[in-house]
Amino acid sequence: MDNLKLWHRFLETIKPQVSSANLKAWFLKTSLKEVTEDKVILSTPNAFIKETLNQRHKPLIESTFEGMLNKKVVVEFVVKENLAKPEVTEEVFFQPPAAPAFQLNPKYTLENFVVGPSNNVAFAAAQAVVQNPGISYNPLFLYGGTGVGKTHLMLGIGHALLKNKPRLKVIYCSSEKFMNDYVSAIQQHKMGELRNKYRSIDLLLIDDIQFFSGREGTQEEFFHTFNELQGKNAQMVLTSDRTPHEIVKLEDRLKSRFAGGLMLDIQPPDFDTRVAILRAKCAEKDEELPEEVLKQLASSLDVNIRELEGKLVQILQALHAQNLAPTIQNVSPFLQDSTQRITRFDQKRVFTTICEYFDISQKDLTGPKRQKGLVLPRHLTMYLLCEELNITVERVGQMLGGRDHTTIMHGRDKIKTLLSRDKEIQRVIGEIKQRLI
Ligand code: ADP
Ligand code: MG
Repeated sequence: MDNLKLWHRFLETIKPQVSSANLKAWFLKTSLKEVTEDKVILSTPNAFIKETLNQRHKPLIESTFEGMLNKKVVVEFVVKENLAKPEVTEEVFFQPPAAPAFQLNPKYTLENFVVGPSNNVAFAAAQAVVQNPGISYNPLFLYGGTGVGKTHLMLGIGHALLKNKPRLKVIYCSSEKFMNDYVSAIQQHKMGELRNKYRSIDLLLIDDIQFFSGREGTQEEFFHTFNELQGKNAQMVLTSDRTPHEIVKLEDRLKSRFAGGLMLDIQPPDFDTRVAILRAKCAEKDEELPEEVLKQLASSLDVNIRELEGKLVQILQALHAQNLAPTIQNVSPFLQDSTQRITRFDQKRVFTTICEYFDISQKDLTGPKRQKGLVLPRHLTMYLLCEELNITVERVGQMLGGRDHTTIMHGRDKIKTLLSRDKEIQRVIGEIKQRLI
């Protein structure tokens, strides 16, 4: 297999395991330079991406390549010398006939979006938007937890509209991309170009708009973009992990604009929908797993479909690598160690377990004291509540004595970073999870 293909297979494999923001920011701009006997060399566009991949994602990269190549490898990074080379960007201008060689998420269509009670209203709205873009529901604002299918549905709308009108000018981007574009336009005195770019289109899809929080300049610019697009009936679809009103430090005028179209939530899928999604994902991969295996897998994870898919990929890989039949017996070991079993526990238990483990009082844990010994327990609590129980950072802030959501994000991310390289933290979390289970 050539490097490009291998790299694309690698991206496919990790896609369900990393957030789309991470995928876009770190992986899509990177390429596979060389594979030797025991090394995989990745080429990154700059030193920052190199450092981030090295510090935060190395174990994942290595284990994924090991799974694909069936041997032990060490990953190394080099910074690409020739920056003029085109790189895959997160933003896709869908403009036939020159289709980009690598489109992001071409598989996220309405056709393969599995509809169930948790998402049927949002799906119906997506169909309505496709039938009547720019008019009835503008913007369509989709919100819900991580991995429930917001991005999928949004891109599904993009694909469907393009099918009807191939000449449609579409921009799909993350809110960070919009912010970065805005910042560089200011720095390079190219505001005209920026406006031209975002205001001349027919369909604007912006993902994870909650990150506009606190970005005043960006909000101002987006407000005008929004008005202009709405004025000419260009359809907008926005996603967020919460409602506009729950986004802190978001201008009121934007809140009311966002809520002024149609605002719908997507809930975590119920059991039957999870089974149906797993079945669909298997079919897409040309794989088949017995119904009882799908059911067992569906009952092991219940909130985040991305994780469910990650587990599926992991299981399929392991079965292939070891040449095992897809039976319950063979699959069970993978489900047993599922860290997600913790989702069966509630937030109260996280608090009591952390306090017991570190021998501190709940009052100290949630209180304002700044003692050193309280920092790690607090960060761990933030991490567990956000990542394992999928509670929003705002709510975690409230639960931890009214802390700001940015503090929570910081604590959560701190642990995430540590987890990827710090053995001690890995051990501590492992032990705490054991107690939780
Ligand atoms: P979000 O943007 O809400 O975090 P995504 O849209 O990225 O979630 O979905 C995560 C993964 O789950 C994707 O691989 C997506 O295809 C899959 N997924 C989510 N909902 C569905 C669904 N209803 N049918 C099929 N796949 C789904
Ligand atoms: Mg998303």
